[in-house]
Amino acid sequence: MPALTATGPRTLLRRLREIMAEQISAQNRLDKLVSLIATNMVAEVCSIYLRRAGKYLELFATEGLNRGAVHKTRLKEGEGLVGLVAETAEPVNLSDAPADPHFSYRPETGEDPYKSFLGVPVVRGGQVFGVLTVQNRAAVLYSEEEVEALQTVAMVLAEVVAQGGLFNIAELDEPELRPDRPLSFKGEGLSESVAVGQVVLHEPRVKVERMIADNPQEELKRLEEAIARLRESVDSMLDSSELDLTGEGREVIEAYRLFAYDQGWRQRMRDAVRTGLTAEAGVERVQDETRLRVQRLGDPLLRERAHDLDDLARRLLRYLAGDGDQHPAQDIPENAVIVARAMGPAELLDYGREKLVGLVLEEAATTSHVAIVARSMGLALASSAVGVSDAARAGDTILVDGETGEVHLRPQPSMVRTYAAKRELRAHRVAHFARIRDMPAVTKDGVHIRLMMNAGLLLDMPHLSESGADGVGLFRTELQFMIGETMPRLSDQIAFYKAVLDAAGDKPVVFRTLDLGGDKVLPYARWEREANPALGWRAIRIALDRPALLRYQARALLQSAAGRVLNILLPLVSDVAEFNQARALIDRETERARLLGLPQPKQIRVGAMLEVPALAFMLPQIMRSADFVSIGSNDLFQFVFAVDRTNPRVARRYDPLNPSALTLIRLIVQSASEQAGDLSLCGEMAGRPLDAMALIGLGLRTLSMQPVNIGPVKMMIQSLDLREVSQFVDKLCSRTDGSLRTRLAAFAAERGVAIK
Ligand code: PEP
Ligand code: MG
Repeated sequence: MPALTATGPRTLLRRLREIMAEQISAQNRLDKLVSLIATNMVAEVCSIYLRRAGKYLELFATEGLNRGAVHKTRLKEGEGLVGLVAETAEPVNLSDAPADPHFSYRPETGEDPYKSFLGVPVVRGGQVFGVLTVQNRAAVLYSEEEVEALQTVAMVLAEVVAQGGLFNIAELDEPELRPDRPLSFKGEGLSESVAVGQVVLHEPRVKVERMIADNPQEELKRLEEAIARLRESVDSMLDSSELDLTGEGREVIEAYRLFAYDQGWRQRMRDAVRTGLTAEAGVERVQDETRLRVQRLGDPLLRERAHDLDDLARRLLRYLAGDGDQHPAQDIPENAVIVARAMGPAELLDYGREKLVGLVLEEAATTSHVAIVARSMGLALASSAVGVSDAARAGDTILVDGETGEVHLRPQPSMVRTYAAKRELRAHRVAHFARIRDMPAVTKDGVHIRLMMNAGLLLDMPHLSESGADGVGLFRTELQFMIGETMPRLSDQIAFYKAVLDAAGDKPVVFRTLDLGGDKVLPYARWEREANPALGWRAIRIALDRPALLRYQARALLQSAAGRVLNILLPLVSDVAEFNQARALIDRETERARLLGLPQPKQIRVGAMLEVPALAFMLPQIMRSADFVSIGSNDLFQFVFAVDRTNPRVARRYDPLNPSALTLIRLIVQSASEQAGDLSLCGEMAGRPLDAMALIGLGLRTLSMQPVNIGPVKMMIQSLDLREVSQFVDKLCSRTDGSLRTRLAAFAAERGVAIK
């Protein structure tokens, strides 16, 4: 019967420390470790498997199994119970291991008689290095304390591996990602600028030298002191005039501050230190666990929060190491481009604005905290450049295109020249866009097209005058709710909407009410996972089931728009009754404001988003209820083609320039015009010149897009003959090609329509 806690983990840790201090080889150390763990835990078997290149797990040391199997037994990734532990990064605790379907019998090890099995991952820096196991003959389940103790030991073991000597630790990384040759990555562009600079590797890991506490009370005290200093430093970051944080950048750091004060996080670190670890090891253990948990959940929003926590944990480690606020970031070269797997917003701010020109990340979404801060620092930013942080070396030349998301590492001189030419061309185009910025978007035959921009944060508003957009055709209000840690109060919402309207001046703004659900989840709200979130409890459906949410938002919008025109857009309307119900809620708020004698908007217009195909067949009816309709083509075509827009395997499978899609748009435009209704389109396709050309040919006269696309689309419009394109597109609708893109591009080339 195992009795792992017989002497308690602290005694074990003390003995481990002695072994760690001995001047012996790494292999020798592992052999001693397994024997010590087995004895201390009254386990008949203790084995260590480590991950090697090629992703197999190799038996490195054992007490209890055949020694002859050491360095011979190799398990493929996911093979056997050991493989399962490595794959899931979770402990596996079984009373009858051979009966488990994952069990893989290896005769050379002689493990037949052992029934109970406990395996825990050896984790360091979010990476699984290997697996530590104990086994006993008796068929019993190991206790929670035993699992906990073995995890603590595994952490010390990770340190032995990280110290090297067993094998070249670098081989744990993909070897093919470490060549010297030029490499290109196709990431996602998250800001408009481009940059050429020198790689600065963001090396967030602070090396933890001491794992086991001499004096646990002292370690708790050190942890508390470091937490106090961390909180102070985050507070002062907000007060710093040097950083001059404003708008969203400031809100992001305010949200980040809440983490620094999180009691649950502090308690978990205290608990880890109480098991006998040093303060540093406690911080690291909690962080590793959080990271793995979040990775497994696969929720992009949670992952973003985990980056904030990583950032805080590294800061704590720096305080514990006595480095205080000294950050290596101070010595970066001119034209620095930071390359990192992921990063928190405060870490980016540590580098200062002066020398930084770009940022390349492997993980970050458009709305992630670090991306928001990077944009407010004016950096060229590319994300999802998978593998770049392994391939890049400090000092390498790097090209970052924040518009296309392309990243070129160690580029050939010819590439640098091509890039310089590309930058110049782009500068010319930008200069041309600036010249036409204040001109109307009018076709060659004199038809005016309204070009609006999409926005979601205050940070976007300066683009209104920079791009020359006619107004904001879609303001995604949920983004403001998503970056905060708590539901914004009424007064905050009013101030925010008012600031948006002030920034827009005379130009109209269309506020879309909260479009939550699907892939947009509030970090502070409890959310039930759904099998098909895109078809689930989303947008107006939530608003109607939780009317207080919509009424509250309408209240804020009404107050913020006193004396002005207020445009409210309801997302994901499926039928007219639903729209009328939501409109009635807004009307009740208007009535309430009137009874309270609050100042009123000059005019209130309520529109519906056409994103659900069913509504396309109700255009005449919805046009009688709604003041305007905006086609959300991103969602509409997700439903029309039955492709999940968030699933990269299928998202691009069908082209919106497919005859069926264009025929549907034509139907919508025709039935809207029978009612002389106000119709626009605000999905991503509106911002692509070729797609916009087709949409205009089908009769759309208002398009809303990313501000960066206003110039190119206007240039296209100014070179377009509307009559010609209308006839052409009308005929195209009867074709059977999967995509009409090539035909449309040929038409544009022939007629000199600027679509590049
Ligand atoms: C759309 O669906 O086209 C749209 C504009 O809304 P979102 O992309 O925010 O879902
Ligand atoms: Mg949508």
